[in-house]
Amino acid sequence: MIEQLIINGERVNASDGGTFDVFDPSTGELLATVAKATKADVSRAVAAAHAAMESKTWGGLAPAERGRIMNRIAQTIRDRAEELATLESRDNGKPLRQARTDVQVAARYFEFFAGIADKIMGNTIPLGPGFLDFTVREPIGVSAQIVPWNYPIQIGARGVAPALAAGCAVVLKPSSEAPMTALRLGEIGLACGLPPGALNVIPGTGSEAGVALASHPDINQLTFTGSVDVGIGVAKMAAENVVPVVMELGGKSPNVVFADADFDLAAAGVANAIFQNAGQTCSAGSRLLIERKAHDAFVAKLVERAKAMRVGPGVSDPDMGPIISKKQLETVERYVGVGAGEGAQVAAGGARPSDPGLGKGYYFQPTLLDRVTPDMRVAQEEIFGPVLAMIEFDDIEQAVEIANRSQYGLVSGIWTRDINKAMSLASRIKAGQVYINTYGAGGGVELPFGGYKKSGYGREKGLESLASYTQVKNVCIKY
Ligand code: NAD
Repeated sequence: MIEQLIINGERVNASDGGTFDVFDPSTGELLATVAKATKADVSRAVAAAHAAMESKTWGGLAPAERGRIMNRIAQTIRDRAEELATLESRDNGKPLRQARTDVQVAARYFEFFAGIADKIMGNTIPLGPGFLDFTVREPIGVSAQIVPWNYPIQIGARGVAPALAAGCAVVLKPSSEAPMTALRLGEIGLACGLPPGALNVIPGTGSEAGVALASHPDINQLTFTGSVDVGIGVAKMAAENVVPVVMELGGKSPNVVFADADFDLAAAGVANAIFQNAGQTCSAGSRLLIERKAHDAFVAKLVERAKAMRVGPGVSDPDMGPIISKKQLETVERYVGVGAGEGAQVAAGGARPSDPGLGKGYYFQPTLLDRVTPDMRVAQEEIFGPVLAMIEFDDIEQAVEIANRSQYGLVSGIWTRDINKAMSLASRIKAGQVYINTYGAGGGVELPFGGYKKSGYGREKGLESLASYTQVKNVCIKY
């Protein structure tokens, strides 16, 4: 059976009947055959989204009613949580409990933004006697959303929910590596009362559907989540049509651990920040900056944790699942070789697991690279795998300098019992989010999220994200 596209409220085949296969990275087995959106399908989806914007059933709907639909979506995601989590785990390979968290976070996005749908307000601006001036925040229009494979349902919901709350219509293009839960999201939306065209889901390749969507002259806004190189190309295409973009790109986020930190707390946080989702997280804490005098004691704790982790198929709920694809696995493997060549020492992992039972999947061991120096490639480039680059520093000045010596600036973590040290570093670190004695906040639906530097621009999550999906109209009355 073919998993069809969702365009204008209907499940349809691709215009040319084309399909692609999706594989379970835990086993290498076929998971599904999915309709592959063409340029014509993208145009149909964009037209359907515009028609929804003009319709009474979406564009003309009272904001409170949009919120009610979104609350029903949140509830239905929760009602179907186990089914969605299992599908996400098989599609992406992530451990079941991570997939369960992702599904709950997706529900929370709809719930959070449902509550905002009828509270998107403007201002009155005092011009003096004889004038009334006010602003209205109108939906920006058709939002094109291109998302990656690493957190499909979470990142799908992250963009779709604020856009719908603002009254936009959405064309969502999931990655061809893991498109399944985005399609379920589209189905759920329709079942919960979204009218045709308000949410279209068109899986397809980047080179065809992605390019067609990013360059489409009729989209009004674009949210792109993915790699820097692809993001630059997407932003250029959007610029041709003067379409504003949100760019959620990569990272090389540092966890800075001082000698006075609570080591058990910090080791758990640092390990989770890199090994969650097998390191395939934009905000992965992929650099450890460890105060030199604490190096041995802290690294010993991390080594113990990494070696104790059970790697296996996502649905068996291991500590860590596989890498998304053979290609990505080979990239991770290559980087470990690069690090070793540069003088880093493998303190844990560093290879595929030897368990023959895992032979068909794309597994890699949780890996710690020790004695890394700040300019090594493994300290500078996003590996997107379970590989932590561990770098030593002597004092807070050096910690700031190393933390900021990166083209990226997405997230950062600081671990210390000294609030002055923590606040001093937090104010000087160049990153969109700073965590102190914690990391990630379990999805952080309420917290503005986005990059400094090449990690991107624009903000998702929290109230800040509404700025991307609304535009301000000023109305001036003379009386
Ligand atoms: P990717 O850039 O290869 O693909 C992302 C999406 O873009 C996919 O849907 C893909 O089909 C599409 N795409 C590919 N080529 C395209 C093109 N030429 N035109 C239009 N669309 C195109 O990224 P990926 O491998 O799927 O994901 C990993 C990357 O995403 C990492 O760099 C990671 O850091 C980043 N990421 C960032 C965030 C964030 O919020 N900042 C979140 C998750 C992942």
